[in-house]
Amino acid sequence: MFAWLSRMLWRKKPPAIRTLDDLTAALKSGAINAHVYREGEVQVADLFAETDLSLMERKKVMLRSFGSPAGIRMYVHRSCASAYVEQLPADRTVFEPHTEEWTPADLIGRYRDVTHCDHCRREFLPSDEGYIAYWVVSREEMRLLEEVQREQSPDTPAEPGAAPDSGGK
Ligand SMILES: [Zn+2]
Repeated sequence: MFAWLSRMLWRKKPPAIRTLDDLTAALKSGAINAHVYREGEVQVADLFAETDLSLMERKKVMLRSFGSPAGIRMYVHRSCASAYVEQLPADRTVFEPHTEEWTPADLIGRYRDVTHCDHCRREFLPSDEGYIAYWVVSREEMRLLEEVQREQSPDTPAEPGAAPDSGGK
């Protein structure tokens, strides 16, 4: 009796994972296991292997947990900044909340691999006016971040009068 039901209940279904905390809990409880494999010399653990989540859903889990898109740091002279942003490929953009300003005294020598401007390629010098550090992300990441932020907004009380609009002006 109810064989179909017990089959359904017994079919191993991964738990719903929306944040990294969910993922950690599921791994800890043994509901899912990480898959460990070798990539050349490096051992890599795929924590999402048994979650059934698509690559896009995995990205959203990260975005829900960190609130900022994956990207790369680029350092440019202050005088190169606008030209740098203008030449970004169409599918890239700058995540403004992570933009930083640096002085030569603070930046030069701070990171071993930050020695040259990512726009004009010239070496950073103490006589420079200063630098802008951009967080360069894909527009796809930004779109996913906005999607994740929208799905979270019903839980938080909206500011009075701040009706969500679709961006049409
Ligand atoms: Zn430059």
